[in-house]
Amino acid sequence: MPPLDRAVHSGSPQRQRRALEALKHEPEQPYVYPPAREFVEPEWRRLPGFRDVTEQEWGSAKWQRLHTVKNLGQLRRVFGDYFPDDLARSIERDQAERATMSMLVPPQMLNTMNEKDLWSDPIRRYMIPALADRDPVWPSHPYAERDSLHEADMWAVEGLTQRYPTKVLAELLSTCPQYCGHCTRMDLVGNNVPQVLKHRFELRQKDRYVAILEYLRATPAVRDVVVSGGDIANLPIAHLEDFVTQLIEIPHIKDIRLATKGLMGLPQHFLQDDVLAGMARMARSAIEHDVDLAVHTHVNHANSLTPMVAKAVAKLHEMGFRDVRNQGVLLRGVNATPKDLLDLCFTLMDDCKVTPYYFYMCDMIPNSEHWRVAVWEAQELQEAIMGYLPGFATPRIVCDVPFVGKRWVHQVASYDRERGISYWTKNYRTGLEYDDGDALQRRYPYYDPIATLPPSGRDQWRVAVAAGA
Ligand code: SF4
Repeated sequence: MPPLDRAVHSGSPQRQRRALEALKHEPEQPYVYPPAREFVEPEWRRLPGFRDVTEQEWGSAKWQRLHTVKNLGQLRRVFGDYFPDDLARSIERDQAERATMSMLVPPQMLNTMNEKDLWSDPIRRYMIPALADRDPVWPSHPYAERDSLHEADMWAVEGLTQRYPTKVLAELLSTCPQYCGHCTRMDLVGNNVPQVLKHRFELRQKDRYVAILEYLRATPAVRDVVVSGGDIANLPIAHLEDFVTQLIEIPHIKDIRLATKGLMGLPQHFLQDDVLAGMARMARSAIEHDVDLAVHTHVNHANSLTPMVAKAVAKLHEMGFRDVRNQGVLLRGVNATPKDLLDLCFTLMDDCKVTPYYFYMCDMIPNSEHWRVAVWEAQELQEAIMGYLPGFATPRIVCDVPFVGKRWVHQVASYDRERGISYWTKNYRTGLEYDDGDALQRRYPYYDPIATLPPSGRDQWRVAVAAGA
């Protein structure tokens, strides 16, 4: 029942009268605000595997990490009879034949899944993919690549990617407290899986940090650093603080963004005394040095947001972090509807004080076709969510075009809808193109999932692949 209708039938007579009046004046809208979902911590004791878990244990980052699910047996123990056998078999086959990431799901995230319908649960669908979820004909696009954004090709020094003139990405580590099935950095992040032997950093961590900081000190054109991984929630707080403090002290660095999905997947980490103290010192130092220090998180569905997440975010705001922003990934079967996107954005804003910022189209990594949407679908979604949120919190849906970078989905230069090839332009050179005179004149292709093409387009791909394209 829509919220206003509900209000008409509940509350004091005065409130009911007001709701009735409001109902008369409210035109029907494609999206009805507010989201119907209640903002509560789901009761973890409803799940067989967490039946005896105390509140203290649940709130402990150490307990959460120790009980993070890494295999099918552990997953079965958490969900007990709720876990369908056919889903278990499909996940097992997926791990052997398709998965690009190993299983790693903290209890906090498992607790936000609907145990009564795990097949269609949006969090399960992207964190624990099953073979039956994937596209049976085209699991991968013919042009899918392990490092689809060529981040490693653009390392200025190992682990420091420069794809834009004024901003860089520092990959401090290659692990996370949770592994997402669609991870763009599947080439480097996480454990080896049957389909993918991961690349490894060659320099020792300490030496890499020194090289990154030396490069940044010597490069005044860079003003903005994303400190990422992996996930900074897996870096001991003393190491993170040491690196970020040195970054803050570089005079030309004005913006620092700490990237962590763990803020949602393992909020307990950010509520530990030593982590709170370290984060607070970094926030103070940033303010003293006139640097904007923000946290960027990665939430793909409103169901992942709970009071525990809101509590961790509130601490960051109290410390003086400039902002906490969300960069979600647009994933078919997870959030690629106007309602899912708007429910997520309103829950981020209203309940968690997180600014919706971007939705990235899922990148062209192997076996991601079932998650990806076509550029035209992304454009339609962008249009559908306009006007509901304040302008500053209306997320941009972006396509990360290989060799170009992020582009708003309406910036496409030309588009062959039959073969699903969009063409994009760029207005700067990356480190790969310093002596390439044509880099700024060229058009760079991006490919829609083949399943979204008309039959004639799909036939052309079939013929091209058979011919060895
Ligand atoms: S948290 Fe980020 S880096 Fe880690 S697995 Fe997920 S998408 Fe990849």
